[in-house]
Order: sequence, then C-alpha cells, then structure tokens
Amino acid sequence: MKHVLLAVSGPSGVGKGTMVKTIIQRRSDVVESVSCTTRPPREGEVHGKHYFFLSHEEFERRIQEDDFLEYDKHFGNYYGTPKSFVRNTLKTKSVIMEIDVVGALNAKKSFPECKLVMVVPPSVDELKRRLSGRGSETEEQIQGRLARMEYELSHKDQYDYIIVNDDLEKAIADLCKIIDGE
Ligand code: 5GP
Repeated sequence: MKHVLLAVSGPSGVGKGTMVKTIIQRRSDVVESVSCTTRPPREGEVHGKHYFFLSHEEFERRIQEDDFLEYDKHFGNYYGTPKSFVRNTLKTKSVIMEIDVVGALNAKKSFPECKLVMVVPPSVDELKRRLSGRGSETEEQIQGRLARMEYELSHKDQYDYIIVNDDLEKAIADLCKIIDGE
C-alpha cells in the first residue's frame, strides 16, 4: 500500500487534534510528523517525540541545507517540518501533520504529493459562539481568534479535501478513507 503525507488544518476548536490523535492511537500504519523547533522544551516534552529541539544556529544551518518541507517563525522561534523525517517515515507509514494554512500551502509547494485536508465546523456561527464563550479571554483575544478563523476558512478552495466535523466518528472515518484511498 502506498503511504501518504497529509496536512490537516482547520480553525482552532474544530476538533482536528482529537481526530488526528485518535487515528494515531488506532492505527499502527499512521504516525504524526515530529517538527523541529528552537523553543526550549516544556516540562515533560521529549526530544524526538514532541519535537526535535534545535539551537538557532542548527536550525538556520538546516534551512540553508534545504532540510525543511516548510518552516515558519512563531513567537520569535523557528518551527519546521524536517524533510528527512517525513521521507524516512513514508517508506513504511503514512504521516499526518497538523499545521496551519500557511504551513500547509508551503508544504504543498515543496512536496506536491502532500494532500491538504481542512476540517471545518458544521456551523461557523456555532464555532464563533464557542470561541467567544470561553469566558477567560479579553475582547481583543476573541477578535483575534475570530479573525484567524475567517482567515483559515478563506483558504478552503486551495485544499484537496474538506471534512465537516459534525459527528467525530464520521469525521475520523472520512480522514481514514483519505489515507486509504490515496
Ligand atoms: P508550541 O510552541 O505551542 O508547541 O507551538 C507554537 C505554534 O507552532 C503552534 O501554532 C503550532 O501549530 C506551530 N507549529 C508547530 N510545529 C510546526 C511546524 O512544523 N511548522 C509550522 N509552520 N508551524 C508549527
């Protein structure tokens, strides 16, 4: 069977993380991609499992060597998907990366076989209500989240597949079908 690289995106709160984690627990032929980062490990994070923790210099050297499928800076630190990890893993398993729209589109540019999957909510209004109603955030943070959501959804047309997460088990089955059908 052919193994595939999938980039899964979607607005925060849509349930994509749960879908990906569940599939990885259930299937031994699918793994989650391990990214490189220059941020320091948080308590409990393991090198090679949660991230490959690299120095700034090492990360920049690997950029020069074209070792990233895509990379970006968040909060002053580099984050990137290592080509070497993806290529090696694809020999025996399919690889899923959970990644934002910018990262997914960059990954597709450098690795056109990568399939882009966007998970969308059944109702945008409902997700808006959920994002607004957490209670712990300032109005500015809420507006930021909503703008981010609009931004993610506005790139739907550039994706290969759209999954509506109405029923979690059905959404998981849809994602499995994409893995098996590719
Ligand atoms: P954290 O430091 O909380 O683990 O992640 C910070 C941000 O970096 C999150 O938005 C996460 O999605 C993003 N991120 C993690 N790995 C990668 C990656 O390989 N590439 C890109 N572009 N972003 C990543």
